[in-house]
Amino acid sequence: MDTAEIFVTVGGMALIGFVLWFFFGQREETPVAANGAVIYACPMHSWITSTDPAATCSICGMKLVRRD
Ligand SMILES: [Zn+2]
Repeated sequence: MDTAEIFVTVGGMALIGFVLWFFFGQREETPVAANGAVIYACPMHSWITSTDPAATCSICGMKLVRRD
């Protein structure tokens, strides 16, 4: 195996790892309302969530809206 093959192999594995992280890693960050609590999320930044109805987005300051 020469240098080019190693580069392609490592690069390919890194790409696969990134794709897996992109699709599955982000999902784990999403809070699950397992206890029936209502989740409020920013309309613009859906990963900003809170169970507090009066909470605002820490990025844009918008009021969080209920997410079904
Ligand atoms: Zn926001």
